[in-house]
Amino acid sequence: MKRYYDVIIVGSGVAGCFTALHLPSGTDILMITKGDVEESDSYLAQGGICVLKDDKDYDSFFEDTLRAGHYENRKDSVDMMIRESRAVIEELMGEGVEFANQDGDLIYTREGAHSTNRILYHEDVTGREITSKLVARVMKLPNVELVTHAMMIDIICRDNVCDGVLIRVENEREPVPVFAGNVMWACGGIGGIYENSTNFPILTGDALAISILHHITLEHINYVQIHPTVLYSKKHERRFLISESVRGEGALLRDKNGDRFVNELLPRDLLSKAIYEQMEKDGTEHVWLDLTAITKVDVKKRFPNISEHCLDEGYDVTKDWIPVVPAQHYFMGGVYVDQNSHTSMRHLYAAGEVSCNGVHGANRLASNSLLESLVFAKAAAIYMAAHPDDEEYQGRVRIPSAKLLGFSLFGDNEGGPFETEDGDSSPAHIFMEKGFLTKEPPASLDELAKTYELTPDEYRDPELYAEKNKARIWNEIHNEERRQKEIKSKRFK
Ligand SMILES: Cc1cc2nc3c(=O)[nH]c(=O)nc-3n(C[C@H](O)[C@H](O)[C@H](O)COP(=O)(O)OP(=O)(O)OC[C@H]3O[C@@H](n4cnc5c(N)ncnc54)[C@H](O)[C@@H]3O)c2cc1C
Repeated sequence: MKRYYDVIIVGSGVAGCFTALHLPSGTDILMITKGDVEESDSYLAQGGICVLKDDKDYDSFFEDTLRAGHYENRKDSVDMMIRESRAVIEELMGEGVEFANQDGDLIYTREGAHSTNRILYHEDVTGREITSKLVARVMKLPNVELVTHAMMIDIICRDNVCDGVLIRVENEREPVPVFAGNVMWACGGIGGIYENSTNFPILTGDALAISILHHITLEHINYVQIHPTVLYSKKHERRFLISESVRGEGALLRDKNGDRFVNELLPRDLLSKAIYEQMEKDGTEHVWLDLTAITKVDVKKRFPNISEHCLDEGYDVTKDWIPVVPAQHYFMGGVYVDQNSHTSMRHLYAAGEVSCNGVHGANRLASNSLLESLVFAKAAAIYMAAHPDDEEYQGRVRIPSAKLLGFSLFGDNEGGPFETEDGDSSPAHIFMEKGFLTKEPPASLDELAKTYELTPDEYRDPELYAEKNKARIWNEIHNEERRQKEIKSKRFK
């Protein structure tokens, strides 16, 4: 890792990869990821990705997204996602992504709360198909340095301008400050803070905790989607999702007596509520999902991954009903961004599940999130490239592509050399007065830790740090829930 990059991308899921792929080829990019490259939720997406299949479907796609989102969606964002969808799908296919098709004609499937078939899929491993192809492309880009097991524990910022990221690399005790012209948060959701979640446990909402500390605007952080059907298990591990498209293809939900108790294609929040109510009524820890009711398609061929996983757990989906229960699945809220995926902090962008651009409102329509992540990551990259100085946003001067060499945040080289684009170099201090850079002495690690209500040990130790973050985000989500309830109860008095 160097000391300075044009852009740091935090996260290697679809949002991170699509950002890298849409930045100009001369952009010097650092991409970091907390675990292995495959440890992103993007790899886990099963059901598919929505697309505007023809212009006639626009109104219905728009309305379905809004209805699922309880009409709390930002309409401009929904419009942008739908209009950009075909271009994004074509780009993916150009990258070699294969979707189910019949003699070259794409096949569209359907999931809960969609009024028509408009979802493209690749067996039941759509996310793996898309993400593995994008990651492979990013790894070939000569301008991208990808570092795995490198965790963002903070940002370097002052006066609401983001200057870089403080990174803890696995097995190294001291975090490393890395500077950048722009920082992109593509660091996914918050499932890791829940006991029952379909997400990778490493996704603990770190960017949210950092936002809370630096007063970066968040939106709708109490809007957490519970997926109605994950495979019930007594084990403490990531919950295995039984995709909505299984119900879209005709699987039925049954209570303890084997009777149907609900319309299986209700929006996720309403269906989860109905399942919880049924479990309470029956005094059970799960309900049953009956895939033997699927008659239109061959279940094993259409859902090979689900069939195989259930078999490993002792259920043959062609004969047995499987036990299912709701679990945390998706985060609609997040770091507030505008349509360019710009956060409230200058030079800081966010896209994908970590961000809230308003597409999903209070509840996400199935298979809209891969699409939303891709569309808004692309928008961020295009905006960054067109506004290297972010001058429209901040009205300040920056030094694009300035090379900052041999510099340390913690004061071991007061006069680190610095070189501008024109090749001028001088033994200037990095915090010299030039636009956003100031003469203030850099903070020590212990001082930074104090500011963030952490002990230096918590700052250095990933587990202690994660615990503190979880508690912080958890409290914030519940405070927000309480605030919303108070507002509603006042309204109805
Ligand atoms: C089981 C499952 C099934 C799904 N099915 C679908 C579906 O069918 N269709 C659909 O549209 N959506 C689906 N989703 C949702 C969708 O997969 C995600 O919303 C989307 O992939 C998010 O992409 P992302 O790039 O924002 O985040 P992710 O793909 O989760 O990537 C996050 C990245 O950030 C990194 N990171 C996090 N914190 C840090 C840190 N502090 N420092 C460094 N790196 C960090 C992680 O290592 C990871 O690389 C599903 C989700 C799950 C869990």
